[in-house]
Amino acid sequence: MKLLITGGAGFIGSAVARAVIGKSVDQILVLDKLTYAGNLASLRPIAASPRFSFLQADICDAVAVARAFEDFQPDVVMHLAAESHVDRSIDGPAAFVETNVVGTFVMLRAALDYWRRLDRARAGAFRFLHISTDEVFGALGAEGLFCEDTPYAPTSPYSASKAGSDHLVRAWRHTYGLPTIVTNCSNNYGPYHFPEKLIPLTIINAIEEKPLPVYGRGENVRDWLYVEDHASALMRVAREGEVGESYNVGGRNEWRNIDVVEAICGLMDEFRPRRAGSHRDLIAFVADRPGHDLRYAIDASKIERELGWRPAERFETGLRKTVRWYLDNSAWWQAIRSGTYRGERLGVLTEQ
Ligand code: NAD
Repeated sequence: MKLLITGGAGFIGSAVARAVIGKSVDQILVLDKLTYAGNLASLRPIAASPRFSFLQADICDAVAVARAFEDFQPDVVMHLAAESHVDRSIDGPAAFVETNVVGTFVMLRAALDYWRRLDRARAGAFRFLHISTDEVFGALGAEGLFCEDTPYAPTSPYSASKAGSDHLVRAWRHTYGLPTIVTNCSNNYGPYHFPEKLIPLTIINAIEEKPLPVYGRGENVRDWLYVEDHASALMRVAREGEVGESYNVGGRNEWRNIDVVEAICGLMDEFRPRRAGSHRDLIAFVADRPGHDLRYAIDASKIERELGWRPAERFETGLRKTVRWYLDNSAWWQAIRSGTYRGERLGVLTEQ
């Protein structure tokens, strides 16, 4: 099988790329613009594989996208390229509308054009898998879970732009028959996570003994999924998912932000004790994000029941692995801190 993975130099896309190369015989083309969030160092473990290739391109560039379809001839598209950070969407929403909405439109138009020209057998097997977030459903109170049929109610420019892209994908299925599937996943964590998000930021600041910022009183609840479990869910959906359906993906791991930060401090105290006191002493409460959603939680029973997918990690085991990874891979995140990661090159890739 040939997979075109957009956003494959990002956090989740690179986990998918590493998993596909490591656990299957499939071929992949990663198409990525390499924004600040794209990092070729995250693809280094698979760069030497003859089944891996890379194209630096913008999903909003219709000519480049059409050429990628034509040259690579994918069986499956996994569309992950997006602007993904809620705080950045508040300060600069334009890039979110451009990439997440317009870019998805460009991808759908190119995919439809390509799909219509495939022979019957290949067209029947083709899938366009759109990777989205549980944030499109808005916020929950203390009770309840997001199901696949929960009405959309996005609240941030990020979630609104992702909701827009989900609607476009459904429209391309309904109107033109393109074989699409949508997944909506809860918060991911794990290795190679850009250090602007809560878990990697907390770990790296703890390693450097800097303050550990927590929004408000840290009461916001998120449902955390280890990124390799998300990758395994996406591979399962790409192979066995029902066309036209959407699947919620989550870890049944609801944690308050403050408890996540405290758990990281506990692991850091175990792995690298401070000379005096605990890493907990570094926790610093800061002014809350505007419109901060209180709670997200996913009901993942459909993908579990229909596709037999289950996460392999519990939060405690995944978080332990993640803290260990950041301690053992300081070169990866130090290159981000210093900015040198932007000059990263992978010699063996077919960069164009
Ligand atoms: P990320 O920010 O780490 O990576 C995004 C990647 O997309 C980067 O490599 C970036 O260079 C690339 N990109 C951005 N704009 C592009 C453009 N115009 N053209 C081509 N490439 C472009 O994001 P992530 O956390 O890996 O998320 C991947 C996808 O999964 C996103 O669609 C996101 O909405 C979704 N998602 C993320 C989470 C999470 O917790 N991180 C949860 C659920 C869903």
